Amino acid sequence: WHSKKADIALIGLAVMGQNLILNMDSKGFVVCAFNRTVDKVKHFLDNEAKGTKIIGATSMEDMVSKLKSPRRVMLLVKAGSAVDDFIKQLTPLLSPGDIIIDGGNSEYQDTARRVEECKKNKLLFVGSGVSGGEEGARYGPSLMPGGNPDAWPHIKNIFQSICAKSDNDPCCEWVGEGGSGHFVKMVHNGIEYGDMQLICEAYDLMKSLGLSQKEMADAFTEWNKGELDSFLIEITRDILNYKDKDGKYLLERIRDTAGQKGTGKWTAIAALQYGVPVTLIGEAVFSRCLSALKTERVKASKLLSGPNTKPSVDNKAEFLNHIKNALYCAKIVSYAQGFMLMREAAKENGWNLNYGGIALMWRGGCIIRSVFLGNIKEAFVRNPQLSNLLLDDFFKAAITANQNSWRQVVSKATLWGIPVPCLSAALSFFDGYRSERLPANLLQAQRDYFGAHTYEFLSYYYITLNHFGEMS
Ligand code: NAP
Repeated sequence: WHSKKADIALIGLAVMGQNLILNMDSKGFVVCAFNRTVDKVKHFLDNEAKGTKIIGATSMEDMVSKLKSPRRVMLLVKAGSAVDDFIKQLTPLLSPGDIIIDGGNSEYQDTARRVEECKKNKLLFVGSGVSGGEEGARYGPSLMPGGNPDAWPHIKNIFQSICAKSDNDPCCEWVGEGGSGHFVKMVHNGIEYGDMQLICEAYDLMKSLGLSQKEMADAFTEWNKGELDSFLIEITRDILNYKDKDGKYLLERIRDTAGQKGTGKWTAIAALQYGVPVTLIGEAVFSRCLSALKTERVKASKLLSGPNTKPSVDNKAEFLNHIKNALYCAKIVSYAQGFMLMREAAKENGWNLNYGGIALMWRGGCIIRSVFLGNIKEAFVRNPQLSNLLLDDFFKAAITANQNSWRQVVSKATLWGIPVPCLSAALSFFDGYRSERLPANLLQAQRDYFGAHTYEFLSYYYITLNHFGEMS
């Protein structure tokens, strides 16, 4: 049974790798496990993998000799130079047509470079987003593979067997060329930052109005039954309900400074580089940065004062409903912005992205999974050429119905002095996007005044002037 060849090798026996191997094994694939620190292979086989079909390798050569052709080697190692190191070691051991898959959180430009480098060596490279954390890796992640399209027919079966399913559809499709898989994963993470921050703003408003933690948890329970039904709303309910060993709520004891691993920041950087106004994710990243300035904030809180108006409303239930609606509208804007970014990156990089497929990949398995993503999928089914989600009838109607709530919440929060960076950035974006005219005429005039940047006339003005022959 030791002579049995493996369907795929997986390098990287940390949490993600181990769980993905166990997932593949449970779906009937024979996996060969390997790790830089080779001792961990034996440990894994003797413990977590005991009683499974999983085999191990003692060296890279050993691993390669145990694989069916074309060989498939998946990396789940620390993003960065570790990936390049493994590609370098694998290249002389593999044959033309063999496949290397990177399932880590790699930067999409690194992936694009690796696809090209491997191509020169006749190897097929795939950079795949993997979302859903440890649990997802074990029982069904959202997978976003992109890179050399010739690899897809050889990995499709494994990928679509191990991924999450949404109404029986696999949450994994071929994303596109180059670094597109990792780009889409990056935008997913950025959107996750936005969704989380929006929920935090809703929580902050509820708290300011004096709601108890139980009342807040009940609100999230209710919200999870409607259009906001999602993993993040669900876990927020559980977090609000969670009590420490002494019977007191845990949440209040957690320090209010947020950390970050960087993919949200990458999304914001990409938005600036491509010139796409992804304002909500940007604010979500900056909100984490602001939260991290705890010492400064403590000091400033004693020196700077806000309005004297104490948050209060006549009808709490009604205002709670306004908060829910505001969150929904801002979420629509956030996803619209995320898809705008993907569309622009696709245009510049020559990727042929399937936007409905992307929504479906995110519909299950990953952190942002939600009913809402089903609505986005449907919007792209209705119109695959849809240029902006805000223009889809379903989302247009949703914003029309709820924007009064959104404006109530943002204006009240402003008057009360409660920060709502994402709710308000989304509203400003919405108002800017739907404006036929913006004050950028003045801006262009200012630029021209000090630097001769030149400006264009509005076309109707041209026509009028030409019509009267007054242009010189
Ligand atoms: P990790 O802590 O990011 O990486 C540990 C693995 O990388 C180990 O196998 C380690 O080998 C190997 N490694 C580290 N530096 C190396 C180097 N210089 N050369 C060769 N190998 C090296 O593990 P993880 O949390 O399981 O994540 C794996 C990948 O998936 C990462 O890219 C991560 O960003 C991504 N990811 C993680 C999650 C999550 O929830 N954790 C979710 C999605 C994606 P040794 O045992 O020899 O040290």
